[in-house]
Formats: sequence, structure tokens, C-alpha cells
Amino acid sequence: MGSDRPAPGSAKPPAGGQGAPNAGHLPPRLRLGRLGAVVVLAWLAVMVAGAWVIANSEASSRRAMAGRLDARTRYAASFISIYARDLLARERSAARAWLASPDGTADTLARTSAALGMTGAVLLDAHGRAVVDSPRSDQPVAALLTRRYAGFAAAAAAAAATASGAGRAGASRISLVQLGKSPLITFAATYPSASGARVLAGAYAVSDTVLPSALDHMLSTGGWQAFLVDSTGGRLAAGQPGPRPADSVSFRAAVAGTPWAIVVNDPESQLYGFLSGPGSWVGWLALTGLTVAGLAIILLIAGLARNRTQLTALNDQLARLASVDPLTGLRNRRAIEEYLHDALSAARRHALPLSLLVVDVDHFKNFNDQLGHRSGDAVLAHTAHALDRALRAEDAMGRWGGEEFLVVLPGTDEEGAVRVAGRIRAALAADQPEEASAHGLSVTVTIGVAEWQQEEMSELVGRADRALYEGKAAGRDTAQVSTVMAAVTEVPERA
Ligand code: GH3
Ligand code: MG
Ligand code: MG
Repeated sequence: MGSDRPAPGSAKPPAGGQGAPNAGHLPPRLRLGRLGAVVVLAWLAVMVAGAWVIANSEASSRRAMAGRLDARTRYAASFISIYARDLLARERSAARAWLASPDGTADTLARTSAALGMTGAVLLDAHGRAVVDSPRSDQPVAALLTRRYAGFAAAAAAAAATASGAGRAGASRISLVQLGKSPLITFAATYPSASGARVLAGAYAVSDTVLPSALDHMLSTGGWQAFLVDSTGGRLAAGQPGPRPADSVSFRAAVAGTPWAIVVNDPESQLYGFLSGPGSWVGWLALTGLTVAGLAIILLIAGLARNRTQLTALNDQLARLASVDPLTGLRNRRAIEEYLHDALSAARRHALPLSLLVVDVDHFKNFNDQLGHRSGDAVLAHTAHALDRALRAEDAMGRWGGEEFLVVLPGTDEEGAVRVAGRIRAALAADQPEEASAHGLSVTVTIGVAEWQQEEMSELVGRADRALYEGKAAGRDTAQVSTVMAAVTEVPERA
């Protein structure tokens, strides 16, 4: 009973070695605990979210870069489209101005062609035939134009003649053609003349137009290719010559009003250069570093917390060891003295009684002599427990030294203390240690009883001790009450 109660100000001893906080199959340094595992999982979740953000921003950067090149391709296409439309409008108005009269000659055509910077031109009638002869130097170009646009001229004239085809009057056609080694832009524009619908067909050397410059300035990075392709097979190239690079991304935009399209091929390494270069793994490197650093900090904090817990447990254990008697498990002398000190303070403060028992085992020397010191220990421990179990919860018992014990009885006067002394002697009589009984020995105690008389602790203990020795002298196995020797001070009468 009493030994199960914690000593004031000290912790109860942990049961048989279970206090090691790191018991388990993992090495202590790696154990995290549930809270630590939750924190680690939360941290990893944050890092996964970070990885998602990085991957997502990479993907959107790729989309943005591809979108930019796509827009650039479309922009070039619309620029060329405007150029082609202007060209045709200019040719048509020139034809109307200079070639509409029936007396148009080869000379007028040659001058018109030279004024507009053409390399050759031909006038076609509604049957697709050349109306005037071209100069000799323009013969191959004129032949090409006649061949190419005869059908167009006839169809345009036929359409213009019908009400439903009226809208086609003013039709025009532009193409990209290879003549020998020189690429040409050819065009045909219908216009009304005094002799009926006519077609002015002409050709420009591509090098004399803005097309090469428009293509050459598509991109400034390395390895790209740009083409102006014509649906009839013509083709104008810029950038890196040769076949399309295997890793290239291709963009295509139609040139409105023409049979042309612009195709741009850009190697992925150039297009997404920033993303695939060192810049791309800086984010991942930072994320990895952050993940590792975060985990290291969590493990460090977990380790510190664990060490703190261990330290607290060790401190508790130390405190317990410092206040517990190892043989009996009762309070040791220091602890019972402390308890008595505190109990006396409380009794003084609340004006309560308090009594003290000093208990000594009778003839204990005999047990040692007859049973040996080891069995003597067992007898002593058993005796201590038998006495302690008979005490009330608020009483405290401690080993005072050797085979002597101190019992503090707070709130108990002399009469009550005598009753407790009788009860614990009876309890011992009823619960004898086997080691002793087996040898026909019985264990008895003599008890000195003293009620506190407002004196100092040492005086109280001294009185109980003296009562004990009186009990010994009186034959042992008894409880002897201390008598207070009131000091009588004679006061001289006044004269
Ligand atoms: P009395 O009735 O006068 O008290 O006689 P006693 O023999 O009990 O008293 P004494 O003071 O002569 O002897 C006390 C004995 O108790 C001597 C000592 O060896 C023994 N003793 C004290 N502490 C221990 C202990 O922890 N274990 C054992 N086995 N014996 C102890
Ligand atoms: Mg003794
Ligand atoms: Mg003794």
C-alpha cells in the first residue's frame, strides 16, 4: 500500500524496464513516430504539388513558345498575302490604264512590263491566245505564261460573259514557278478592254520581290527552315538547306488569296532551347534540395524530440532511484524525511495532529545468523511490505536505516497512532515471511509511538526513538508511547 504511493515530489518508478521509449525493431535514430510520419507525408505532398507546378509551367512554356512561332508563321503568311494582293491590283490597274485600247502593241506591252519590273509579260485574249508578240528576250517566259494561263484566260472570259459568272470578272491567279534555275512569280489578271475581256500575264524574278527577305527573316536561331510552297509544285526555301531535321517541329500557314502556304521547321532543341538547357533542371534541382533539406529538418526535430523524451524518462528514473530504497521498494531515508518535513508543515498550517512511529525488527541479528544474510534480506523486505500494506493511503512508510522504519501518520493523534501500531503488528503476525517460518522463527517488531507536540522534527523523531528503546527494554514485540516530559519552570513570586 504505502510503497505503491509515490513519494511527495518524486515520480513513481516505471514497471520492470518498460520505460525505454525507443523499444522496437528499427534503430532508434530512424524511428519517427506517428506525428513525424504525418509531417513527412505532408511535406512530401507539398513537394509533389511543387513538382506538378514545375511540370505544368514547363508544359505551358512549351505551348507558349510553339504558339509564338505559329503566330510568326501566320504573320509572315498574311504579309505575303497582302503583298500578292497589292501586286495583282497594281498589275490590273496598269493593264487597264495602258493596255485597254485596241491598238495595243508589243511595244506598249514591253514598256508596261519594263515599268513594272517584270522579266516577261504576255497579253491573252478570251481564247487564251497571245494577242501581241513578246520581245525576243522574253520568249521563254512568254511561252511559259501562255501555256500556264491560256486555260485560265478562256475560263475567265467565259465566266465574265454569263450573268452568274459576272463576279469572276477581275479574277486573277498568282503562282510560284521554276523556270530553269530561276524561280519566278507568275500572275494573270483579267481586265476589260475595247476588244473584250483580256488577261495580262506576267512574271517577276523572285529575287526582285520581297519574298526572299520575308522568308530569310523568319527566325534568327540555328537549324530552322522556311518554305513558301505552291500547290502546283513551286517552292522557295530559306534557312538551313536539306531535308527536314528529324527533331524539328513544323508550323504551316496558308497565304490567303494565293495557292501558297508557308511551312517552318524548327529543331526542338532551338525552339525549346531554354527549357531543355541548364535552366530546365534548376527548378528540379531546387525542388530536390528543398525536399531533402525538409526531410532532414523533420528527422532532426523528431530526433531532438525523442532525445528530450528519453531525457525526461531518465530524469524521472533518476529521481525515483534517488528516493527509493532498493531492497524494500519503500521511500529511503531522505525521501521519508522529506515527507515528514512536508507533513509537519501542513499539520502546522492547518492545526492538525500528526503522529510518528519508529518500527524496529526484534532480534533481527538472529535471522541473519541463522538464515544467512541473503535470506535476512528477504525477511526484511517481506516484513516491510507486510507492515506497509496495513497502512492507510495517506500514511507513509520509509526505511530509516538497517531494520528500522519510520511511519508518518498525518491527521492522527496519539490514540489513533496506537491503533495503527497495533494494526500493523497484527498484520505482520498474520503475514509471516516463509523463510523465517520454515525455520521456526517468527518476526516481531517493537514500535515507538509519538504524537507531534509542535516541536521540531528532530525532537519528534528523538522522542519516538526513545519510546522504541523503552519498548525494547520492556521486552520487545510491543508498541510504546512516548510521554512528553513537560518542563516545569518555576516563576518566582513578586516580592
Ligand atoms: P533488537 O531487537 O535490539 O533490535 O536486536 P537486533 O538484533 O535487531 O538489533 P541490532 O541493532 O543488534 O542488529 C541489527 C541487525 O540488523 C544487524 C545488521 O546486520 C542487520 N541488518 C541491518 N540492515 C540489514 C540488511 O539490510 N539486511 C540484512 N540481512 N541485515 C541487516
Ligand atoms: Mg532490531
Ligand atoms: Mg535497529
